[in-house]
Amino acid sequence: MSQRLQAAIHPATVQPDELLVAGPVDRIAYEEAQRLDYRPAALGERLGPLWATYWYRVRARIPEEWHGRRVDLIWASRAESTLWLDGQAVQGLHGVEPQQRPDATVTRAARGGETVELGVELACNGLFGDLGSPPELERCELALVDEDAWRLYFDFEVLRALEASGELEPDWCGHLRAELNRFCNEHDPAILRALYEHHNGTRVHEIAAIGHAHIDTAWLWPLAETRRKLVRTFSSQTRYMDEYDEFRFACSQAQQYAWIKEREPELWERIRAKVASGQFVPVGGSWVEPDCNVPSGESLLRQLVHGQRFFEDEFGSRCREFWSPDAFGYCGQLPQLLRLAGITRFLTQKLSWNQFNKPESHTFLWQGVDGSEVLAHYPPADTYNSDVSVAEVLFSRREFKDHESSAQSLLVYGFGDGGGGPTRAMLERLRRMRDLQGLPRVQTSTSDTFFAALEAERAERAVVVGELYFEYHRGVYTSQAFVKRGNRICEQLLHDVEFLGAVRGDFPREELDRLWKLLLLQQFHDILPGSSIGLVYDDARRDFAELESTLASLVGEGDTPVNTIGVARRDVVDGRMIDAPPFGDGLVVEAGDRVAVDALTLENGVLRVTLGEDGTIRSVVHKPTGRETLAAPGNRLELYEDRPVKFDAWDIDPAHLETRTDCPPADSWEVLSTGPLRAEVAFERRVGEASTLRQTIRLDAEAQRVEVHTIADWHEEHALLKVCFPLAVHSGTATYEMPFGYAERPTHFSTSYDRAKYEVPGHRFADLSEHGFGAALLTDSKYGYSCFGNELRISLLRAPKSPDPSADIGRHEFAYALHPHVGDHREGGVLAEAMRFNAPLRFTRGVGPSFASVDDPNLVLDTIKRGERSDALVLRLYEANGGRGTARVRVGCDRARFANALEDPLEDATVENGAIVVPYTPHQVLTLLLQ
Ligand SMILES: [Zn+2]
Repeated sequence: MSQRLQAAIHPATVQPDELLVAGPVDRIAYEEAQRLDYRPAALGERLGPLWATYWYRVRARIPEEWHGRRVDLIWASRAESTLWLDGQAVQGLHGVEPQQRPDATVTRAARGGETVELGVELACNGLFGDLGSPPELERCELALVDEDAWRLYFDFEVLRALEASGELEPDWCGHLRAELNRFCNEHDPAILRALYEHHNGTRVHEIAAIGHAHIDTAWLWPLAETRRKLVRTFSSQTRYMDEYDEFRFACSQAQQYAWIKEREPELWERIRAKVASGQFVPVGGSWVEPDCNVPSGESLLRQLVHGQRFFEDEFGSRCREFWSPDAFGYCGQLPQLLRLAGITRFLTQKLSWNQFNKPESHTFLWQGVDGSEVLAHYPPADTYNSDVSVAEVLFSRREFKDHESSAQSLLVYGFGDGGGGPTRAMLERLRRMRDLQGLPRVQTSTSDTFFAALEAERAERAVVVGELYFEYHRGVYTSQAFVKRGNRICEQLLHDVEFLGAVRGDFPREELDRLWKLLLLQQFHDILPGSSIGLVYDDARRDFAELESTLASLVGEGDTPVNTIGVARRDVVDGRMIDAPPFGDGLVVEAGDRVAVDALTLENGVLRVTLGEDGTIRSVVHKPTGRETLAAPGNRLELYEDRPVKFDAWDIDPAHLETRTDCPPADSWEVLSTGPLRAEVAFERRVGEASTLRQTIRLDAEAQRVEVHTIADWHEEHALLKVCFPLAVHSGTATYEMPFGYAERPTHFSTSYDRAKYEVPGHRFADLSEHGFGAALLTDSKYGYSCFGNELRISLLRAPKSPDPSADIGRHEFAYALHPHVGDHREGGVLAEAMRFNAPLRFTRGVGPSFASVDDPNLVLDTIKRGERSDALVLRLYEANGGRGTARVRVGCDRARFANALEDPLEDATVENGAIVVPYTPHQVLTLLLQ
């Protein structure tokens, strides 16, 4: 019956009078495409190569008897296409099946007898990039639409699926079955209409359905294709809005809007009109949907600052929800950062993929490490690409875990990941699910309406505290190492340029705006994690090269060192570091004691380090305490088989833990520097099948850390290289730096939650401490760590083969260091040491050695910059130790105000004797505006 009803939708078709094609060409503008040479096209012609484009011209006469009727173009191809009418992109097309998008309305009321001319831009890729084999154009025709048959088909389909669901009460199910049978015999639409008169009782689960097209800003296609995906998706969706008044479409990622604004002014105006009418709904408040573990705290804030600013400038309002359905876990500072950017609501979905422990609630209060809360919701359909089937709507209700406290959940529907968005069929099904007995009530809605309804519920919510660790995709802290390195370096460079510009008075505002946005783009949740195809990383290499060179020139290191500065971070100061200056010899080194070398033993006033000829570190004695740091030789390089069952670039599976082999000893060693300021020994070694490592182990005068600088020539397949330091330290938890703070995680596998954390994210340090003593590993560009028992490890390199077969192959440079210390990571000053390890000493003119200072070790002065929209000096501080108190910040000003991250001024700060009085609470992030 379904098939018969479906066939009746298009009762007549005509072939085009003329079908022409030009190409293959690159991605070109419509105007340029008009000047191509067109030739007759044939159906079934194989099109390629991948990423090529073909432009079609379709000329067809609409039969006179179709007067007044709706006419569709049927365009069946596995490729993604764009329909152009009168020079405008009007709709995206993809696929050959009716449930895909092989059709587009040409006219809703034909004159009859007219000839239509259509343009179709066909990209030789599918929604998910490479189609595997060359696409072809399978059908191209005009079709008459029987709108009664169209509606009847959905009337029947929704009821049939409901009857077959197995989730109905027997009385209603029996009646439904009998009536559907009667319809199949009698074909009377009134039978179906009568069934839709059966509504729900007074209390029923309510589903807010939000149209969406998750468009990965880059993933299995490069940025340039994303821009076309935006055109296809947004033209389709604005078009459906004309036809379906109730349709609401949520769209995140300011970057994507910005591209349309720059490049597609006409489509941009259509979007603006639909935003004004309330149908096209900007959401998310961030520049892209970023990875939420690897970017620094300041980067995450800038994602929100630039996102909110764009939405406010262009649409007159800020977003109230963070829209992040697909990122791979969420750090525990995020609730506070969101609140500081005016966001109180949070939507994700990804944690439903957890391997060990599924989330216990779909609606809950997510509390960050500082106590800030946001209202969080996971759509219980476990997808952000719902097709609005009866089965999925019923699944949502069945799986929803909070029926006792809530009667509402969200359904995010539409083709996504590769974009596309809702289809007319989805919108038709939604119309039939508004209030039908046995189904939840399903209403089209917006995120704002949905969260407002949740807030209005009188409910005891579950409270979830701290990071939302994603029990999956643990390889993304390590894959595509150059992106991680670029991210770390550029975050530091942006920091330095902002600081120097702010204090020198040459703050390059527009350029910084551009460069920040370029870095924020790289932090997209498939670029920074390393889960994209090679083409994406060609773009990323280009972008990071531009960022690094432009930022380095903006730092503007002069040819004469005037003052040394440790930039704007507490403790990162003045001549304490003894790297050779990049120019001249004006550096004052205040190293009181010297480093001595005795063959393979390096010693300064703090550490005595003994190396093995095999390249291990045999002993690290912390002289102030007399403690030996290592329980067994450290700098143990380990190779693991890294063959995830499913997602190559994404996953490090638990099975890898059983495949460890230690790398063979170094082939040779040589002493490179013998002091008195620096001692270095270099080791050459082979690793794996075809790789080599050159490691230089360094101890500087006065240094509190022993450094390992590595150049790797990496040519492995499905291998994971880790370095292990077995520490003479016992503790049930290890500590890892996270954005504006730290996360503590277990060092054992006692429960399923502990076991799940066999590989975890961290920033510049990972620390294992017991009472009185501990040791940290510091890194300059690594983000994947693990700790089991007393063995602390860094994941250094991977070699996944999919989706980028050449991922991580080639040359790498990275450094790590072992830092033994008194007390725990707080008392031991681990954060400051990690900052010093990452912050190069810079030389510049005209900056005093101590531009700003904070008198309290708990409070880190992280960022100094000029205002986003004003010349005010902006200071960003955060409480780093989990303490409470009042700090004094000296920076030479009379008036200071507290602000949120968007730099909206809040209350005045007290200024006493030239110092700003800053009361703070545990893990608080603070912004000060100085006049
Ligand atoms: Zn995504």
